[in-house]
Amino acid sequence: MQTAHSSMYGDCLFCGTPLRHTFVDLGMSPLCESYVSPAHLNSMEPFYPLHVFVCEKCFLVQLQEYVNPADIFSEYAYFSSYSDSWVEHARRYTVLMEERFSLTAASLVVELASNDGYLLQHFVKRGIPVLGIEPAANVARAAEERNVPTLVEFFDDKMARRLAAEGRQADLIAGNNVLAQVPSVNTFVEGIRILLKPEGVVTIEFPHLMRLMQENQFDTIYHEHFFYFSFIAAEKVFASHGLTLFDVEELPTHGGSLRIYGRHEKNAKLPLTDRAKELRQRELNAGLLKLETYESFEQQVRQTKRKLLALLGDLKSKGKTIAGYGAPGKGNTLLNYCGIRHDFLEYTVDRNPYKQGKFLPGTHVPIYPPERIRETKPDYILILPWNFKDEIMQQISFIREWGAQFIIPIPEARIIP
Ligand SMILES: [Zn+2]
Repeated sequence: MQTAHSSMYGDCLFCGTPLRHTFVDLGMSPLCESYVSPAHLNSMEPFYPLHVFVCEKCFLVQLQEYVNPADIFSEYAYFSSYSDSWVEHARRYTVLMEERFSLTAASLVVELASNDGYLLQHFVKRGIPVLGIEPAANVARAAEERNVPTLVEFFDDKMARRLAAEGRQADLIAGNNVLAQVPSVNTFVEGIRILLKPEGVVTIEFPHLMRLMQENQFDTIYHEHFFYFSFIAAEKVFASHGLTLFDVEELPTHGGSLRIYGRHEKNAKLPLTDRAKELRQRELNAGLLKLETYESFEQQVRQTKRKLLALLGDLKSKGKTIAGYGAPGKGNTLLNYCGIRHDFLEYTVDRNPYKQGKFLPGTHVPIYPPERIRETKPDYILILPWNFKDEIMQQISFIREWGAQFIIPIPEARIIP
């Protein structure tokens, strides 16, 4: 039992400074990818604190390691290939990289957290050698079926050293939505340094903290995401491992992501781009090196909860039926934090057969195949993966046949007719 205030919340996972400042406290929440099967509906479920801190020294926004990553990732339910727009995003990336960095049949592309091969498959089709690294065995099997060679392991500096010793250093290392998911950020980035050829390039995509704050995307916080990076914070982390971020792109994915481009600091062939300098300045202007900026976020989150509950409560008292669309991790943070259960949401639907027939963690809202919407004709559809709202509203535009409308919860609850 620790009593000293300076250490009761643990230390910064990057720089070791004691964490003393709250970014947002979302209360207790279950693991957002732990879908409940019917046989376990009467069992206890573990809940963990979803309390996010900002480090006063390096301004890295982070959760503590409440849960062992091995418990999270051994049987991961998220198959990237179930989203058409995400697969297309990955395909465009592979074309861009092949051209910009002249990748050939003599190159090696390594993806960290390669999931079901949704990205590397596009390099394979064009004859560029690849290697996937993916700790979740079930999605790795799906990658092998796409002819994407995959090692079922957690990536760190030791693994990188072994691959480098085998002569398997990379010309391009890709990591999409993995940097935030690894609590030991120092061994991970050190691994990238070791695995990268002297003139190699690493690109990493992650949700952009500045957008999370400006657009109130607090539901993208979950136990699987230990870190919420600004460009400035990412620069610091990479620089401490001898890697320079020389370029950055702002992407629309996941409500606003960054794709950072890193290289060895000695590789002067790739100079710092204007857009990297410009984004760094914009983050400074937004106050991302000031503690007060981070500490004011929580009020905004509480206001969003009140507004969503008021909207749903109003519809329910008018006797309306509401169903969900999607069963993403972000939906589970939102529903648990707001206390939205079966009383507001009759059910939700998801295209992923792995989730169908199960129940959302914590709230136990049942998950059905999408056909359920046409069968039951609800009055409102609450879109949980709001980052795909345009795609979803198009896919199920038929709900307008019976006068149904959409509800978007973030940045604030609103109805879309
Ligand atoms: Zn720190």
